[in-house]
Amino acid sequence: MRRTFSTLVQTVALQWHLDGTPCMHPQDSLMQDRIDLAAAFRWAARWDMHESIANHFSLAVSEGGTRFLLNPVGSHFSRIRASDLLLLDADHSGEGIAALGADPTAWNLHATLHQRLPQARCILHTHMPYATALCCLQDFEWLALDQNACRFYGRIAYDRHYAGMALDTSEGERVAALMQDGKSVLFLGNHGVMVIGDSVAQALDELYYLEKAAKVQVLALSTGRPLALIPEAVARQACAQWNDYPTDACALHLQALKAILDLEETDYAL
Ligand SMILES: [Zn+2]
Repeated sequence: MRRTFSTLVQTVALQWHLDGTPCMHPQDSLMQDRIDLAAAFRWAARWDMHESIANHFSLAVSEGGTRFLLNPVGSHFSRIRASDLLLLDADHSGEGIAALGADPTAWNLHATLHQRLPQARCILHTHMPYATALCCLQDFEWLALDQNACRFYGRIAYDRHYAGMALDTSEGERVAALMQDGKSVLFLGNHGVMVIGDSVAQALDELYYLEKAAKVQVLALSTGRPLALIPEAVARQACAQWNDYPTDACALHLQALKAILDLEETDYAL
């Protein structure tokens, strides 16, 4: 699967970072998808959202969404390269999927979701510590506590029925049923979180702000002092402002993150 440098060069086009420095990335859309997802893994590791060699991100690369990229079992987020990512088909029976390099629980969750939720182009699952801490509070509901939290107003679903590891497709079916009516973030009780988006840029930006807002909530709750919650109407308005913000902040965020990797971890794009 890995490309040689010479084949990579054939598809390279000159682009520019915001600071005017050149950015050499291949134009081929599948390779660009691979690079974007590899960048997401590298930054999830930098942000301490990863868990050993577990946790998994996927990205649909076909129009219907059933062909998708997934991290291979045993790969640390901090070392994943674009060419390492598995290209899988959700319509595969799943038999022998481990021999293809996929983690079975990752396959069961992501294949089912890419089949059931075509809008979920990018699916990120982590056990990132602050959001997971909130997933472990009884009957927890997301708090409109700061501006970042308002971004997720009305968009979080809750699965409060932890039932062990997802060694069959039942968790995926349950999750797919919950991710309806505009819900794009899932709190998996006693487990972790899942974010879906229409691109790597959007999903990674969501993951970043989710953990930042969760950290504020954990810290504020830990003081034991009364919380100054944002009124519902203001939270709803702030959420709309996030959605309608006049710049494509998600794309710019990923572009800035890749620019750093282009200088510091160039192998992510190989
Ligand atoms: Zn998990």
